[in-house]
Amino acid sequence: MNPFINIEEQIDANLKLRGYTELTSIQKAIIEKEITGRDAIVSAQTGSGKTIAFGLSIVSNIPNNNKVKKPPSVLIIAPTRELALQVQNELDWLYSKTSICIVSCVGGMDMRTEKRNLKKFPDIILGTPGRLKDYLEREVINLSKVKVVVLDEADEMLNLGFREELEYILSQTPKERRTLLFSATFSKQIEKLASKFQNNALRISTVEKNKQHIDIEYHAIKVTSNNIEYAIMNTLRYYEGKKSLVFCGTRANVNHLTSRLNNRGFLVVSISGELSQKERLNALRSIKNGHSKVCVATDVAARGIDLPNLDLVIHADLPKTKESLVHRSGRTGRAGNKGISILMVPQDKNKQLQRLLNNSGIIAEWRNPPNRDDIIKQDDFNIMQDLKNLDKPSEEENILVEKILKKYNQKELATALIRKFRENKYTPDDLEPIKNSNKEKTKLLKFQKSVWFKLKLGSRQKIEKHYLLHKITEVGKINKKDIGIIKIENENSFIEINFRILDKFLSSLENNNKSYPELDLILLKNKPNISIQKKSTYLSNKFKKTKK
Ligand code: ADP
Ligand code: MG
Repeated sequence: MNPFINIEEQIDANLKLRGYTELTSIQKAIIEKEITGRDAIVSAQTGSGKTIAFGLSIVSNIPNNNKVKKPPSVLIIAPTRELALQVQNELDWLYSKTSICIVSCVGGMDMRTEKRNLKKFPDIILGTPGRLKDYLEREVINLSKVKVVVLDEADEMLNLGFREELEYILSQTPKERRTLLFSATFSKQIEKLASKFQNNALRISTVEKNKQHIDIEYHAIKVTSNNIEYAIMNTLRYYEGKKSLVFCGTRANVNHLTSRLNNRGFLVVSISGELSQKERLNALRSIKNGHSKVCVATDVAARGIDLPNLDLVIHADLPKTKESLVHRSGRTGRAGNKGISILMVPQDKNKQLQRLLNNSGIIAEWRNPPNRDDIIKQDDFNIMQDLKNLDKPSEEENILVEKILKKYNQKELATALIRKFRENKYTPDDLEPIKNSNKEKTKLLKFQKSVWFKLKLGSRQKIEKHYLLHKITEVGKINKKDIGIIKIENENSFIEINFRILDKFLSSLENNNKSYPELDLILLKNKPNISIQKKSTYLSNKFKKTKK
């Protein structure tokens, strides 16, 4: 610690060191002057950086002098053990090299270590409700000088039945403390809690109610109860290489699915209340460092957990509430990254899904489970991508490269490469697609995977949909059915194309680009953030309309 630098300056430096050059909108909102010192109910979407937001907000309540031995001035409560420890990690780097000391009191962790740490007179105590209550009753901790209490995932603590613990813990803190409630979703119960424990609380929200998270794509896959596991395995195999979190409704289902995936060669771990704390933390670590690619979990992992680069969430069992849908899905699409949330929908659960989607204002795209062809095609694409990104061989590698080149021809080498890529991987089975009924109002997507192109011409340049449709089929030499959504904005247009015909489409474009220079299509890395009308997203409907 540098005695000449104050806490705020050091925190600024720590944020920069971490590469966080700009605060997220919720972080900016919470450090506004009028909030400092006040109670607040804060809602911001999953993955928007709420931990650092409260980390910044509570600093004003921590005395800048650590020489005096005093009881803690901050109390942070989180609903699950994993989340509590994750918050501690995040605050540890945020406050590194400052005088601020944090000690955690978390169920399942070693009590002796915790008690030893508590003797260091921490500024912040952070824990789960059960352990905190236990320590209070046994007078291991003293919360009589607490100036601010943070309840992270406040609504979940009530869902998990921690009301009694919370009330007891809060009753042990001074009445004139600040209380900050954080979550991405707030229920009526929270209003009650707020009115009981907060004073004239400010409401800070950076989310519009029921607004879909722009970085998360929702897919709904219709399955039968017999083929649900195969659909999950095909989906995981299709998105191979991506980190995935699969949610089940019960611990028994977690066990069952984990062993099925394990037997089929997936690198899988699991998290549920049945496992010891050590096993749960090991599972998280294994996913974080990439040793495992798939984590099967109950909703215990749905709240707050931040697994960087988690690309995919699969709901093996449908979530029971809209909050669960939002939080489970919110494990992906974090801090500006893109993610996909896939709902497995057995036929008899269709109504439940529609209700969930309607209540949460989320639009999902219906898709068939990926079949063998889709997976092979995706494999081929991945192999080509790997080759594209290949660095030059090192000197050491070069010796073997020369040796191999002398002995084998190109075809043999390519075959070896493909076989190596597919080695020990789950061989997918084809699943029978299930037809969608006319009643389904959610968007049906025609393609297993699509890519998007941008054209720097829009309605201002008098571009029209049927013109684009006609030109693209003509120049790209593709069928109308391989074109999805066409969205025309003022200055740009966006066109969705079936991934399966991408190669052919690109080469036709290249061959014809001299004759049609105006059709300068740019292949986008991600799906563009465009608003697509809820109704008539079905392409055929759209064209019927434009023909009128
Ligand atoms: P939330 O609690 O809102 O779900 P987290 O606090 O877990 O979100 O943060 C999500 C991720 O975003 C974390 O990995 C965090 O380190 C990262 N993050 C937080 N603030 C910033 C920032 N200002 N810039 C970039 N990344 C950030
Ligand atoms: Mg959080």
